[in-house]
Amino acid sequence: MKIKKISVYQLDLPLSEPYYLSGGRLKFESLDATFLKIETDLGIVGWGEGTPWGNTYLPAHGPGVRAGIETLSSSVLGLDPCKIHHIERAMDICLPGHLYAKAPIDMACWDIWGQVCGRSIADVLGGRYENGTLIASSISTGTPERMLALIKKYREQGYKLHSVKVGGDTELDIQRIRYLEENRQPGEKLFYDANRSWTRSEAITVMNAVSDFNATFEQPVETIEDLSAVRPITQSSISVDESLHTILDMMRIISGNLAEIVNIKLNRVGGLTKARRIRDLALANGIQCYVMATGGSVLADTEVAHLAQTIPQEFRLGTWACQDMLTVDVAPGRGARSVDGVLAVDDTPGLGVAPDEDLLGSPVAVYEI
Ligand code: MG
Repeated sequence: MKIKKISVYQLDLPLSEPYYLSGGRLKFESLDATFLKIETDLGIVGWGEGTPWGNTYLPAHGPGVRAGIETLSSSVLGLDPCKIHHIERAMDICLPGHLYAKAPIDMACWDIWGQVCGRSIADVLGGRYENGTLIASSISTGTPERMLALIKKYREQGYKLHSVKVGGDTELDIQRIRYLEENRQPGEKLFYDANRSWTRSEAITVMNAVSDFNATFEQPVETIEDLSAVRPITQSSISVDESLHTILDMMRIISGNLAEIVNIKLNRVGGLTKARRIRDLALANGIQCYVMATGGSVLADTEVAHLAQTIPQEFRLGTWACQDMLTVDVAPGRGARSVDGVLAVDDTPGLGVAPDEDLLGSPVAVYEI
């Protein structure tokens, strides 16, 4: 089987509410999504998606996804999409780095491989556990009362896990955390995500001020070096998110004993092929995982749900469903859907969802042999 055609689509995905990250540093209202269709000479079709979370969150942006695919397309046309490692190597040789642009191609190849096997991506990745994955809400930064109101809104939808954005003013962050912990319900879990925004001293100040709550902090500081400095003089659990790009980063996190938890963002690490290695290293070292997309439609959520559901329950902390924050649905009623705060995939072969092509419009680029 060979890849004979790659079609690229662009779509804006409006957020239902403007989103503020880390003390109001960032605000955005719409996501620039890229969808990618791979067609093979045997007629099997696979879909991928690359949707960065704005263009200020990570070194990634919508036009960059499409430019990367333009550069990468010639390296994968003619290859067998089921030879996933060959595809990965061809892309890495063609364009070092730029992992987020490779992820949609990788995703579409896994979709095809699953369909060829007649198994879900989760099964091809090692085996799907029956239970779905808890979805973390994403609580944007605001006053403590405003943040609790957002949590209550998600509670009504069944959410039991909340990713609470903090960062910036340390006194206010301490107030936020204390207020939200005091209003946390039994069985509910909150983790505090600073998205790199604290300095070392700010992180140490806040984490030690609220250590009595036994809270988890995600990416409190910018770099792995910063984490190394903060780690020995704080007591709280740490989750690494934005500093985890490659398997080598994962090895540094492990060798430095920097975290109990990692957040594997599929677009950031280059897709499922690279993410599954990070998953395996995490499991071998007793590190728990969140598995998330950087944003996007139900396609991105479904890809994430497949990998998440290969992780044993005790190591699988949660995921995210950006679909709940969008006003556009590219595959109405299909794919992994947010139900009572849980995201789950079934045994449908491959990804299990394709977008409604009428909603995508005409492709913005087509590459073929
Ligand atoms: Mg995070």
